[in-house]
Order: sequence, then C-alpha cells, then structure tokens
Amino acid sequence: MADTPTSKKRTIKGHELNCTVCKNDTFWERETLMNTPKMSFFNLDWLNKKAQNYICDNCGHVLWFMNKN
Ligand SMILES: [Zn+2]
Repeated sequence: MADTPTSKKRTIKGHELNCTVCKNDTFWERETLMNTPKMSFFNLDWLNKKAQNYICDNCGHVLWFMNKN
C-alpha cells in the first residue's frame, strides 16, 4: 500500500526536524482540523484550518505546524 503512514525524516522550510525532547529525527505525519467556534468569535478564522502534526517516532512528542494560507 503506497499510502501507508511511515515515520521518516521531515523538513520544514529547509530545516531538518529534530525532536526537542529526545533528539530523534524521524516523525509520523497527521493532519488535524482546528474547528473551534471560539476562534471565529475572536476573528481568528485562520485557526479553523488544518494543522500539520509531526509525531516523534521515538518518544511520541507532537510538533504542530499551522499554515495561515
Ligand atoms: Zn522524541
């Protein structure tokens, strides 16, 4: 299966991702929808979009990345 999730090295804007906790460099990827009614109230609609999660393959630490566009 080609779309089986795998942990691998990730790059964010040219920077190799390293876990801030255990220094591991392989991560799982998942997307999370940020649907919070409160955010619209505060004019932060861009927070209702998708967030990118990278989960450390070693310790499970989750890194969050949000794109404003
Ligand atoms: Zn880690």
